[in-house]
Amino acid sequence: MTTHFINNQRVPGSSGESIAVLDPSDGQVFAQLARGNATDIATAIRAARTAADGGAWSRLAPVERGRLLRKLSDAILANHDELATLEMRDCGKPVKQAKADATACARYFEYYAGACDKLHGETIPYTPGFAVMTVYEPHGVTGHIIPWNYPMQIFGRSVGGALAAGNACVVKPAEDACLSLLRIAELAAECGFPDGALNIVTGYGHEAGQALADAFGIDHISFTGSARVGTIIAQSAAKRHVPVTLELGGKSPQIVFADANLDEALPVIVNAIIQNAGQTCSAGSRLLIEASAYERVLSLLASRIAALKVGPAAMDLDVGPLIRQTQLDRVNGFLSDAKSANLRFIAQGSIAPESPAAGFYTKPTLIADVPTKAALAQDEVFGPVLAAMPFKDEADAIALANATEYGLVAGVWTENGGRGLRMARAVKAGQVFINNYGAGGGVELPFGGVKSSGYGREKGFEALYGFSVMKTVVIRHG
Ligand code: NAP
Ligand code: MG
Repeated sequence: MTTHFINNQRVPGSSGESIAVLDPSDGQVFAQLARGNATDIATAIRAARTAADGGAWSRLAPVERGRLLRKLSDAILANHDELATLEMRDCGKPVKQAKADATACARYFEYYAGACDKLHGETIPYTPGFAVMTVYEPHGVTGHIIPWNYPMQIFGRSVGGALAAGNACVVKPAEDACLSLLRIAELAAECGFPDGALNIVTGYGHEAGQALADAFGIDHISFTGSARVGTIIAQSAAKRHVPVTLELGGKSPQIVFADANLDEALPVIVNAIIQNAGQTCSAGSRLLIEASAYERVLSLLASRIAALKVGPAAMDLDVGPLIRQTQLDRVNGFLSDAKSANLRFIAQGSIAPESPAAGFYTKPTLIADVPTKAALAQDEVFGPVLAAMPFKDEADAIALANATEYGLVAGVWTENGGRGLRMARAVKAGQVFINNYGAGGGVELPFGGVKSSGYGREKGFEALYGFSVMKTVVIRHG
């Protein structure tokens, strides 16, 4: 059975209970995970508090913190293939995706390593006889609840930023995706991170996760996951007046005008829905196409979608399995509801015959004429299902783009520069891409949502402000 990682040590779970770890490619159990609870969370918080409240971590100069983060980035790269293999097995990620995730994780620590000694305040002109300065201080102990879809990437972006700002961290990964993160915590210890700076407790969300959200001793919570659980986290944190960053779901539109360069747009549009089998918060899951180009774009996409191959992660095809049976049932439920509603199925990819029957495979699917109010146009499927619909003009495109509860990312495809900018300003989303699309890419780019996609920003330098508290110091010198 795996252990928690607390105070730079492997710590067995206090209950002795375990959770089976499945390989999504064949549905078989291959490991057992410690099932953490409130006791384990309390142990981790004590370790983090000691590190943050006058302990070795809090006494490090920012430049030294940066050097440790940089060492960890290098260690992740040095152990890249091992980490990617763990992630491939644990999460069913095709090899290329697992490797990209390990690389991105290292890049987050590299980026934030360089930022540690650059988070500085200001002086403020005030009344004569006074000097005023602002300083950024860490919250103290930050809690991080991580989803299963991009464990290494989201760990890098969330924990990397929090450590850079000087916080000690307690991390609760999703029970479906812990193995790579436990290994990275060991690497951090080997790199010389002081005890208690980085702690991981594994377990279920409603047990270990809820205990973390409810715990006294956590000064800030970074939550990445569903809007439903985001509400629970925010309510827990509100009871203790603890700030929260919520990185939630999306139903992000890809908006294609008739003048778009389709040679460039189409491969990006396909990738934005099949990357990680569609299990991406920023997946481009709605395709809005100008009416005059609608059928042309659909038929060009049809052949691309039909050519897609799904199979075991190790085969490294276009699409791997979904994370687990309940996710497969959910995605297939959307597909059968769409069939019952007589929606127009344009194309589907195919599942490789080598795929084990007990694996969690679904076919990438393009469905057209999806009504705005349909579940497929409103709800996050979290699978490789692209819902297409036509729009008349710019105003109609804006109205459709904004017609969901979410606002995470949007893509606009047009050769008309002014229109691209107008759309970027009018669409309610945390990131807008013009003539490109980045589902998750770009550690330098502040990321986060509006509306039910959440609030607060991670990634980029901006994240450091969220992971710190500004203090104003007023000095009367006469
Ligand atoms: P989820 O069910 O909300 O779970 C997210 C995390 O919260 C997991 O670690 C989960 O643990 C934990 N959790 C569940 N219930 C909890 C509770 N009552 N208290 C505390 N923690 C709890 O989401 P998911 O299915 O793992 O991830 C998919 C969702 O995440 C999608 O909606 C996706 O869009 C969103 N997401 C957003 C971003 C972004 O940056 N905006 C990035 C990636 C994913 P267990 O899984 O162990 O139960
Ligand atoms: Mg797994």
